[in-house]
Amino acid sequence: MNCIFCKIIAGEIPCNKVYEDDVLMAFLDIHPNNSGHTLIVPKEHFENLLETPAHVAEALMVAVQLLAPRAMAAVGATGFNLGVNTGSSSGQVVMHTHAHIIPRFEGDGLVHWPTKEISAEMLEEIAEKMRVL
Ligand code: AMP
Ligand code: ZN
Repeated sequence: MNCIFCKIIAGEIPCNKVYEDDVLMAFLDIHPNNSGHTLIVPKEHFENLLETPAHVAEALMVAVQLLAPRAMAAVGATGFNLGVNTGSSSGQVVMHTHAHIIPRFEGDGLVHWPTKEISAEMLEEIAEKMRVL
């Protein structure tokens, strides 16, 4: 399969590996948004989070709890953002499930997405369409 993360996992492409277990591998992003930007990927190829079995997604989140503090400590960060881009419209480029840990520093210049105006009616219309209650 022509998947860059599968090639990294197979050892065909080098990486700065920071963690590995039976299910997951983690390595540093080569184009970091901030120092310590880390990617956690399932070893098995799944296209995105929604295609990923629940037990693998759970392991991914446990690995975030393990690795985010270590990434922050490694670069002296005080917080982090967790990102899981899903679908090309979201900015997902590598179609192999991965979580981004992006360490954050006070005043580091990274900006959050702008908010949008929305009416109470529209909020409720959306909520009604997606409810599983
Ligand atoms: P996404 O936009 O969520 O698909 O993110 C893919 C990420 O993979 C980007 O942040 C890239 O910088 C990163 N990336 C691509 N190729 C490599 C590589 N060979 N080693 C480490 N990170 C990579
Ligand atoms: Zn893959």
